[in-house]
Amino acid sequence: MLHAVPKSKISHSRKAMRSANKGLKDRVDFVHCPACGKPKLAHHICAHCYSFISRTQKQEARLEQNQSAKQEQGQQE
Ligand SMILES: [Zn+2]
Repeated sequence: MLHAVPKSKISHSRKAMRSANKGLKDRVDFVHCPACGKPKLAHHICAHCYSFISRTQKQEARLEQNQSAKQEQGQQE
């Protein structure tokens, strides 16, 4: 069975010319976070605000856990 084969070698120059317009496009979907003002991707949560929210939530969960553990210790004694 025969396969389609290029008739001649594509020179380095021709390959470079073809690739010249295939580069990455600049991103234009950046906006400023309405909460903290840092740049973020549109329709995505801001990394700065997310870290703040997750940190405070984890801290609160830890506090609740500690309090419930203390209450259990108090009941045992
Ligand atoms: Zn933010």
